[in-house]
Amino acid sequence: MTGTGQQFIIVGERTNVTGSAKFRKLIEAGDYDAALSVAREQVESGANVLDVNMDEGLLDSEKAMTTFLHLIASEPDISRVPVMIDSSKWTVIEAGLKCVQGKPIVNSISLKEGEEAFLDHAKKVMRYGAAAVVMAFDEVGQADTEERKVSICRRAFKLLTEKIGFSPEDIIFDPNVFAVGTGIDDHNNYGVDFIEATRRIRREMPHCHVSGGVSNLSFSFRGNEPVRQAMHTVFLYHAIKAGMDMGIVNAGQLGVYDDLNPELRELAEDVVLNRRADATDRLLEAADRFKGGGSKKAAPDLTWRERSVAERLKHALIHGITDYIDADTEEARASLGRPMHVIEGPLMGGMNAVGDLFGAGKMFLPQVVKSARVMKKAVAYLMPFMEEEKAAGGEEAQAAGRIIMATVKGDVHDIGKNIVGVVLQCNNYEVIDLGVMVPPQQILDAAREHKADVIGLSGLITPSLDEMVFVASEMERQGFEVPLLIGGATTSQVHTAVKIAPNYARGQAVYVTDASRAVGVVSSLLGGERDTYIGQIRETYTKVALAHERGRAAKMRRTLAQSRANRFDPGWHGYVPPKPSFIGARALENYDLATLVPYIDWTPFFSAWEMKGTYPGILTDNKYGDAASSLYRDARAMLTQIVEERWFRANAVYGFWPANSLEDDDIAIYADDSRTETIATLRSLRQQIARDSGRANIALSDFIAPEATNIADYVGGFAVTAGIGEDVIAERFSRANDDYSRILVKALADRLAEAFAEHLHARVRREFWGYAADEALAPHELLAETYRGIRPAPGYPAQPDHTEKTTLFDLLDATRATGIALTESYAMTPPASVSGLYFSHPDSYYFGVGKIERDQVEDYARRKGWSVAEAERWLAPILNYEPGRNALTGEAA
Ligand code: SAH
Repeated sequence: MTGTGQQFIIVGERTNVTGSAKFRKLIEAGDYDAALSVAREQVESGANVLDVNMDEGLLDSEKAMTTFLHLIASEPDISRVPVMIDSSKWTVIEAGLKCVQGKPIVNSISLKEGEEAFLDHAKKVMRYGAAAVVMAFDEVGQADTEERKVSICRRAFKLLTEKIGFSPEDIIFDPNVFAVGTGIDDHNNYGVDFIEATRRIRREMPHCHVSGGVSNLSFSFRGNEPVRQAMHTVFLYHAIKAGMDMGIVNAGQLGVYDDLNPELRELAEDVVLNRRADATDRLLEAADRFKGGGSKKAAPDLTWRERSVAERLKHALIHGITDYIDADTEEARASLGRPMHVIEGPLMGGMNAVGDLFGAGKMFLPQVVKSARVMKKAVAYLMPFMEEEKAAGGEEAQAAGRIIMATVKGDVHDIGKNIVGVVLQCNNYEVIDLGVMVPPQQILDAAREHKADVIGLSGLITPSLDEMVFVASEMERQGFEVPLLIGGATTSQVHTAVKIAPNYARGQAVYVTDASRAVGVVSSLLGGERDTYIGQIRETYTKVALAHERGRAAKMRRTLAQSRANRFDPGWHGYVPPKPSFIGARALENYDLATLVPYIDWTPFFSAWEMKGTYPGILTDNKYGDAASSLYRDARAMLTQIVEERWFRANAVYGFWPANSLEDDDIAIYADDSRTETIATLRSLRQQIARDSGRANIALSDFIAPEATNIADYVGGFAVTAGIGEDVIAERFSRANDDYSRILVKALADRLAEAFAEHLHARVRREFWGYAADEALAPHELLAETYRGIRPAPGYPAQPDHTEKTTLFDLLDATRATGIALTESYAMTPPASVSGLYFSHPDSYYFGVGKIERDQVEDYARRKGWSVAEAERWLAPILNYEPGRNALTGEAA
C-alpha cells in the first residue's frame, strides 16, 4: 500500500455508528443482516481488524454490541479477523469482552479519570486476555503536542508494565490524530506532532504498537474526498515510516503515495507536515480543481442566494449569516406589504426551523444565539416602518408571553441568563432583562408594570440562594401568582424544592436545569396543559424534599471537638516551610494580555455554551465538532482583537505574610517575622463527616504549621481581574443588537481572568514565593493543577464562606490595587475576577468541607463576632440541620 514493505494493520472503521451514518441507520433499524455485510465488505477490502462501535445516545449500546458480536462469530469469513471493541463506556466494553472469541482489542483505556480507574480497567483487560488501545489522554485532557503525547504514553507505559505487569506487546498507543488545515494556526503542527511522537514512542517503548484514527486528520475538508484521501495517504506514508503500525481507516479507500497527482501530493504534504505558513490556503485554493466541483471552504457557497426571499431569510437565520439581511428583509417587506407580515411570516418561519433543529439536537446554543442576531438585525431594520404604522394607528405584534429576568441583588454574573434570554426571544417570547444586582422590589415592580407572565431569577454565588428565597416570599406576600423560574450555577432542584417553592405557595417556583430547557418549561407553564404540568412539578418537588430530609438524617456527623481531634497532620516535626521573597502585598498593573492567552483553559468555555466535552477533542467531536469549531474560530478572532486593541485591562495583587494556625481552625497573620503583632485572622471550617476510612476531618488551617510548633510558616493571597472595561464593550455589542458578541466577550474576559490566576500562581511558585524555581510545566500542563500548593477561593468547597473575601481584600488592599470591588453578597465585580489564598505545603489539596452541625456554626459565629442567625445565613448551603429548629427533635426552637 505504501511501498515500505512494513507490516501495517488496517482496522476497518465502517462498523462504527458514530463514524458511519449508513451503519448507524442499519443498527437503529435492527437490520443486522445488512450490518453484517458492512463488516464483510471491510474484511474483503483488506481490513485486518474490525472496529465495532455502538455508542449512540438512543441505542441500547450494550445490547447492540452483544448482538452484533454474536452474529459476527457465526460468520467464518468475518470472524477470521479480530475485533476491536470500541466504546467510551466501560460497561459496553465489558459486555463486548464477554462475548468475543479469540483475542480482542479494547478501544480504549486512558488516564482521563486518573491512575486508579486506568489500572482497574487495564487489569480487567488482562483478565480477558485482550490487548488495549491506550489513548494519550490524561487528567488534563487529550495530548496535542509531541511532548505531551510522549510524556503521557511514557507514564501509561510505566504504570502498566511496572505496576500490574501488562505485557508491552498488548499495548497499542493512540497518540491522537487531530484535524489540520482548520484555519486555526495552533492546529497546523498536529500532523507533525503525531508523527514525531510516534517515532519517539516506538523507539523508547519497544514491543508496543502505535495506532490512530486517520480520518480525523482531514475533518475540515469534508465533502472533498480526493483531497481527504491524498491527505490520509501522505500522512500514513510518513507516520508508518516513523513507526505507526496500525490505523483505523476506511479499508478500501486508501491511496498509493506514488500514484497521487504530484501537485496534489505536494500541497497535501505541505499541510500535513506543516511545511509552509500558507499551506492550508494553497490546498484550499486548489481543492476545487481536484474535486471537480464547488467546495464549501474555498469560496462561500452562494447558491442559496438564488432561492426565494423566504428561503433566503430562513437560510440566513439557520446559518447565522447577517451579510444580506437588510436587503432580504427589505425585499420581503416590499412584496408582503407590511413589516408585521415579514416578522410573522418568513422570519418567524425561519426561527421555528431553528427551534426545531435545536430541539432535535442538530443545532447548539452558539448557533442559536447567532440566529438570534440575524433575527434582531432584521427586526431592527423593520422598526422604523413599524413606528410609522403605529403612528398611523396600526396594530402591534403579539408575543407568546412576557418574561422579566434578573440576576439577583449582590450577584454580577449573567452569561447564562443572557443565553436563556436570547433563546426565549428566538421563540417569540418578549424578554425584559433588568440586568445584574437587581434589588427584589425593583424586580417585582417591573413585573407589575409590564404585566409579566413569568419572572426569571439567576445567580452564580451561594448568597444568591437566600436572595431568591426572599424574592419568593415577597411574591407570596405581595399577592403574585405568576410562575417563578430559578436558574444559574449555584441553584439546584433540591434548593428550589426545599427552600424556594414552599415560600411561594400562591404560584410555582420551577428550577430550570439549563438554557436548552427554558423554552420547554415556559411553554408548558403558559400553555393549555399548565395545571397538569404544575401538578407534576409539585409532586416531584415533594419527593425531592422528602428524600433530602431522609438523606440528611441518615448521615452521621462528628461533633466539632471530635472532628478537631481527627485533624489532618502532615507531620510538622522537621518541616521547614519555604520563605517568600518578600512580606506584604504587591500589585501588577495593566498586565500584558498576550502573555495570558496560552494559559486559557478552553474546556469551561465550551461548557458555558452548554457544549460538554474536553478541548481540543470537542473540535472534532461527531456531535459538536462543527458548532464547536466555528465558535472557537470566532472566539480566537475576538481574542486577537481583545489583545491587539486592548479592550480590557488586567490587574493583579498578591502578597505573603507570616502565619500560624491556632487551635480553633483559625490562621493568625502576623505583621512581620517577629510574629508578635497579629494583623488579621483567616477563619476556616472543618469537615464533620463521620468516616471509617481513617481519613482526617480536614480544615484549611491544617496546611499551616500550628503556633505551638514554633515553625515559621507563611500564607499567601491574591486577587486578579481581566475585566476592567468588560462592561463598556458588552454594552456596545448590546446596542448593536449583537448578543452573540456580547456573550462571547464576557465569556472570554472570564477565561482571561482564570488564565491570569493560573499564570500568577505559576510565577508565585517560581519567583515570588520561589519554592518551585525549577518547575517547568508548559501552560496547558498547569491546568491539571498537579504542581505543589493550592489556591483555594473563598466561597468554594474548602471554605464556603464568601465573607472571608473581606479579610483577604483588606490584607491585599485589593480594591485600591486592582479596581475589583465586592458586592453586598461578596461577589467580585467586574465579574471576570478571581481571588484566593495560597498554601505552599506539599500535602495541601482541594477538598470540600461538606455539611456542618450546629456546634460548629455556634463556634464559628463566636470567632467571627456574629450572631448564630447571621452565621446560619452565610453558611446556609452547608448546614446539616434546619435553622430555627431543634436539631434533635425537629421542633421549632
Ligand atoms: N482552569 C480552570 C480553573 C478554575 S477552577 C478554569 O479556567 O476555569 C479551579 C480553581 O477553583 C482552583 O484553582 C481553586 O482556586 C478553586 N477551587 C477548586 N476546588 C476548590 C475547593 N475545593 N476549594 C476551594 N477552591 C477550589
